[in-house]
Amino acid sequence: MSAIQEAIRHIHAQLPEGVGLVAVSKFHPAEAIEEAYAAGQRIFGESHVQELAAKCPVLPQDIEWHFIGHLQTNKVRLLVLHVSLIHAIDSEHLLREVNKQALRAGRRIDCLLQLHVAQEETKFGFAPEEAMAFVREGAWQQMEGVRLAGIMCMASNVDDEAQIRSEFRRAAETFRAMRQELASSPTLPLAELQAFRHLSMGMSHDWHIAVEEGATLVRIGTTIFGERQY
Ligand SMILES: *Cc1c(COP(=O)(O)O)cnc(C)c1O
Repeated sequence: MSAIQEAIRHIHAQLPEGVGLVAVSKFHPAEAIEEAYAAGQRIFGESHVQELAAKCPVLPQDIEWHFIGHLQTNKVRLLVLHVSLIHAIDSEHLLREVNKQALRAGRRIDCLLQLHVAQEETKFGFAPEEAMAFVREGAWQQMEGVRLAGIMCMASNVDDEAQIRSEFRRAAETFRAMRQELASSPTLPLAELQAFRHLSMGMSHDWHIAVEEGATLVRIGTTIFGERQY
């Protein structure tokens, strides 16, 4: 068994029932993805639109491509042709653009709101209370090219486990509060409530903590594929 296949099996063996693995293949060649695919992995995460668009056509059709990086509005048109879930919607403006381009492509795309819970200034995303207000206000319900499928976050890039845990916990609390808010809406169709299901958090160095705090999707690159190439 290759190192990639072994790493995938090892992670799957540790993931609780109901937690999905996004294998983050950015900067790794199609051959590496094929190896992971052979081990049964079907969800792959990329963070550059051109790279994703180049890999898609040369790899198996039943791969589910997730976009996990910072997304610029001028790349959305190309992305919507290939992607099944966009993790990092960091503004209403971006969500509206995805909606517009998805409608144009005749698609409906699952999107996660990126929550800013880390202490680093440079991280993108909604503050928890902003994201909550956005969900409550409900303009997204009119956007038929997108479906709100949950939230994602990144913890601060630190060694302090307690800090990482408290950031993930804040995201999980926000996620639960949002689900409650949606569940109490008299007008929201049940299918839309059920669609709001993902809490995407945890990377190679902190995914165990994220799972303990309630992640439903973890995004793991280095542990599977090794250090990034090119
Ligand atoms: C690159 C990346 C990952 C994976 O990081 P690893 O440390 O290689 O596991 C996860 N999430 C996002 C948003 C990323 O950009």
